[in-house]
Order: sequence, then structure tokens, then C-alpha cells
Amino acid sequence: MDNAQANERKGTRYLLYSNKFMEEFKKDAKTKWAAYFVFAHEIGHLVRGHNFNTVDPKERKKMELEADRFAAVAMARMRVQRSDALAAAQSLKARLNIKPEYYPDPAAREEAISIEYDKEWKKVLDSERGKMGGDKIFIAIDPVSFNRWNLIGTASAVLTDEKVIVSFKILPQYNRRTIQVVLCSYNPGIRVNTTIGTGTFNAVPGDRTVEWNYQMDNVPRAMASQPNQLRIYVYDVSNMPTARVGPDIRKKCWILVGSGALVGLAAIYPYTDALSKHDDYAKYLDKQDVFYTSKGTNRDAFYKKADNEYVGAQVMMVTGGALVLSGVVWSIVEKNRARKELKNTICATPPRWRLDPVLIANTAPGIRLGIRF
Ligand SMILES: [Zn+2]
Repeated sequence: MDNAQANERKGTRYLLYSNKFMEEFKKDAKTKWAAYFVFAHEIGHLVRGHNFNTVDPKERKKMELEADRFAAVAMARMRVQRSDALAAAQSLKARLNIKPEYYPDPAAREEAISIEYDKEWKKVLDSERGKMGGDKIFIAIDPVSFNRWNLIGTASAVLTDEKVIVSFKILPQYNRRTIQVVLCSYNPGIRVNTTIGTGTFNAVPGDRTVEWNYQMDNVPRAMASQPNQLRIYVYDVSNMPTARVGPDIRKKCWILVGSGALVGLAAIYPYTDALSKHDDYAKYLDKQDVFYTSKGTNRDAFYKKADNEYVGAQVMMVTGGALVLSGVVWSIVEKNRARKELKNTICATPPRWRLDPVLIANTAPGIRLGIRF
């Protein structure tokens, strides 16, 4: 059993299915309703009393369409969105591998489903006229999203019992530009992974939507419905934001580096002067030498002066070096901070998965591959 099917044995009707198939199917269609659809379809076969011994392909195809229509009606009555109801049919295309002669053309199935769904949905709406739209609620998008790089200035979001649907508009002036659509959350507890409509595209102006299936990402509804925690970004790929250190701080860093260099340079003269005086001190050993009397000093005082000059020059060099170093370190720290802030501005969500080569030190030489989810 590697799919789902309805069957009848000795008067008892069965619905057989493979868990693996249902899970994969659900994932492919990006909605749990795809799985519901498959069950509804199989129940349709049973309810309509289809004869599974039929081998006539024409009769078989008719049975399939009937079951599809039954499922479409069930979807509408469960208030499943049209796109979700159709997602199953679209996903089925890739999975028609068993006895294709028994199955109608996918396009025909899709058409039958949408016609039947629309008919039933109208009935549902008519019967509900006057009442509010059930369990759909509006949630606010984090205003931080709308920074100066974002090509959209506003977006609205609706939460259903399975998804968050974010609507926004692409303005005509962005027509055919390469854009990147990102949906994420600043809340590290929320991973926005299962989405439809995100990625890199050629911009087509008009009303657009991005869907996030929070249920598939194991985010509780109560958490997903919090306001101001989802962010949507639409970037022009050729004009992405970059990390920049503010001009004020950059100036201060340069002042530190510059003044440090000046102090260091200023130390060169006293340093060389002190060295040459030491040489003279070593050269004129006689305390009464005319060298000292002509300078109006004695040999000890001469030495002390040279030594002070030498120590002073060294202090200046160390100070200058420290100033240069602190300027450089400060600018590196600020650059990293800017990068972190930018990451937060663009999207706080960590990558979906990453391959981390980790060197194992002190043990057997080798490389371990860590996969982080
Ligand atoms: Zn069927």
C-alpha cells in the first residue's frame, strides 16, 4: 500500500492509505488540506457506490471525476480556501503513476474541482450571509519591515486556522526588476519555513500574496496570531542594503588612528636624539672633558637627561601604538555591530539548515560534518 484508495470486500467498504504517502502529499502541496482532499475523494468513491471491479477506462475516469467533485464540495463546506482545495489536484499531477489509463487528464480534474467548489462555495456564502467570515482574523505586520529598502510600504495579513496570508502590492515602477520576497519573524521561536510566494522573482506589478503555513512549521495558532511579529520584505536584488558604520563613529576612529600615528612619529626625534646622547656618554668617559663643560653640564646630569628623553620617547611610542590599535579595534567592533543590525533589519530568521564543517582538535584528525536544522 503506497497511496490511498477506497475498496470493498464482502460488503464492507474500506479506506486504505499509506501514512508516508499522505505526509509526502501534504508536504508537496504545502497544505494539510491536500491530505483532507485525498480522504474526501476516497470517501466520495464509497459514498457514490463505485464499482471497483470495472476495467472500462471510460467508466473509471467518470468515477474519478465524481469522487473529485464530491471532495470539492466537502472542501467548500469545510471553508477550505479555493487555492488549498486545488493544491491537491495540482500536486496529484506528479503522482499519477499507477494505471494512468484509469485517471482523467489533470487539467480536467482541476477544472471539475474548481467548478464544483465555486458552486458549493457560493451556497456556503449565501447561507452564511450576514455572519462574519468565521475564524479568520487580521494580524498586524511588524512596522520595522517597512524600511527604506523595502519596495512595499504596507502589507496586511489574515490568519486562518492553518496559514497566515500576507497581501501587498507591487507598484508599476518596479515592473520586471529582479526582486527578492522574504517573509520572516524577529521572534527566534518562530521559524517561517513553509511558505508560498517567497523567493527571487521578476517583479510583476499588482496585488500579490505570500502564504505561511504556520501549522506545518509547528507554530501554535496562539503564537502565530500575535501582532507585529511577522516581517515582509521585497528587495530590489541589485540594490540590497549594506552594513555601514555611522559617519560620527568612523570619524572618531580615524581621529584615534591619526593622533596615534602623530604621537608615534613625534617620538622618533627624541628617541634618536637620546640614542646619540648615549653614544656621546660612552665616548667621553672623562668627567672633566671639554664636551661636558662646553655644554654647561656634568657627565651624570648629561646621562640622566638622555635617559629621561629615551624613556619619554618610548612612552610616546607605546601610547601612539595603543591609540592606533584602539582606533582599529573600535572600527572592527562597530562594523560587526552594523552587520548584526543589518541582519536583524533584513531578517532575524536563521538559515533553514546549514552544513557546518567542524574541525576536531586534540582527537583523531578529521572533519565532522554537522548539520544544523
Ligand atoms: Zn479515485
